[in-house]
Amino acid sequence: MAEFDYDMFVIGIGSGGVRAARFAANFGAKVGAAEDCYMGGTCVNVGCIPKKLFVYASHFSHDFEDAAAYGWTVGEPQFDWKSLRDNKDTEIKRLNGIYENMLANANVDVFNARATVVDPHTADVGGQKVTAKYILVATGGWPVVPDIPGKEHAITSNEFFHMEKWPERAIVVGGGYIAVELTGVLHGLGTKVTQLYRGLHFLRGFDDDVRYHLADEMRKQGIDLRFNANVARIDKDGDELVVDFEDGTQMRTDVVLYATGRAPNSRGIGLEEAGVELGKNGAIQVDESFQTSVPSIYAIGDVIDRVQLTPVALEEGMAVANTLFNEKSGPVDYTNIPTAVFSQPNIGTVGLTEAQARDKHGKVDIYISDFKALKHTLTGRDERTLMKLIVHPETDAVLGVHMVGPEAGEIIQGIGIALKAGATKATFDATIGIHPTSAEEFVTMREKVPDEDRRAAE
Ligand code: FAD
Ligand code: NDP
Repeated sequence: MAEFDYDMFVIGIGSGGVRAARFAANFGAKVGAAEDCYMGGTCVNVGCIPKKLFVYASHFSHDFEDAAAYGWTVGEPQFDWKSLRDNKDTEIKRLNGIYENMLANANVDVFNARATVVDPHTADVGGQKVTAKYILVATGGWPVVPDIPGKEHAITSNEFFHMEKWPERAIVVGGGYIAVELTGVLHGLGTKVTQLYRGLHFLRGFDDDVRYHLADEMRKQGIDLRFNANVARIDKDGDELVVDFEDGTQMRTDVVLYATGRAPNSRGIGLEEAGVELGKNGAIQVDESFQTSVPSIYAIGDVIDRVQLTPVALEEGMAVANTLFNEKSGPVDYTNIPTAVFSQPNIGTVGLTEAQARDKHGKVDIYISDFKALKHTLTGRDERTLMKLIVHPETDAVLGVHMVGPEAGEIIQGIGIALKAGATKATFDATIGIHPTSAEEFVTMREKVPDEDRRAAE
């Protein structure tokens, strides 16, 4: 009889958990997995997928406006929230089914139950004990709402996707990915939206030119973007919310959406009792092979809080399956991870920001192009596209590439491959452009921004 019920038991069937379970099973391991909420995790149910569908939905309002310049007569557009929400739900149900089938086809035993760790080789799954040679914790994260009076009146991205009624007015708190993306969605779908960020300028960690450019573009569209601003309290008054800001002003609104970060889902599931070391914010501490302080317990994805992105969780899941069951180990390479913020317009970025590049290399060469895309020569829309290259002055290596503009996510994915392959500025210059596109600008930038100008702008 086998020593354990399973070779690996996965807690959490999200992006990382599915990948690890499926590949481990394909490599011949006996795998069990538990999910207590929704098959496919955050990305599929309350993250990337519904968000991107909503971004598409909201962009139609820009397109209707632009169509007239191209000869179209568009009647008064009407938006029906319930159709969008319900169509999205139907698609997500389909995706949930695909995940179920994928795991069933790989012979993974799926438990629709909450799992906790009992000891280094045992999990409690909805009251049933299962044993495993390895336990993989892939429990993701959960939105954090700061402790302010009236926080119970606020919603997070979790509720946003299921709202009963589309709001006429909304306040979005936060200045990261989710706040910026959902502000764009709200605005595009007709909500009067105010976004508050507590610091000097939102999107901390992104290249400064990108941060300033996006703020300008959002303001030009009529979004009320406020920096150095925060909520002091929220009260309910009938159907309305009354929001007091820290500067003493007040605003009435229909929805307050908090997008102030996500904390790892690591507490209350037996990890600390089993000896698994957690970091300050609850992140499970792992080594290069995703092994925790308890050798039989591994962890991946948002719960280790390295890079909270689906493709990163997938890569980490793959690495665990390879290490444990495919005799192929090797650390995940976290350099040059391309990423997009699905703001309107999009941000796409890969590599170092200018500030990081200057810290690391001292002097750097900067190339910037800021232009009106061809499409808007007819529409008259006052939207500008920003592209920026950061280049090592001696090796000619392209250190960072940044863009704010339509389809920046799509464009930067390809450039991510170039950077991974070690492209230099000369490689960019030797690449023939595709005309007429915005993307061709990346291979035609020849004039360095004079260094004095960059220093003066700091
Ligand atoms: P998750 O996908 O969160 O999966 C964890 C699973 O574990 C969940 O299903 C949970 O229910 C389950 N679970 C937790 N505890 C237990 C337990 N005790 N027992 C059983 N099951 C349990 N990333 C991108 O790359 N691109 C995007 O465009 C993007 N957009 C996003 C938009 C939003 C609004 C949000 C919130 C996130 C977005 N992300 C995006 C981030 C991405 O969703 C996460 O990085 C990714 O889902 C992390 O995968 P994971 O496997 O670590 O966790
Ligand atoms: P982020 O960490 O990106 O942003 C959180 C924001 O909230 C920051 O602006 C932060 O400010 C602010 N904040 C934190 N605490 C408070 C507070 N107490 N009061 C006011 N503001 C506060 O988290 P998100 O929730 O936006 O998203 C979580 C993660 O999910 C992202 O980091 C990203 O990795 C992933 N994601 C990816 C997407 C994509 O790939 N397109 C889309 C959506 C999410 P400060 O900067 O000052 O700390």
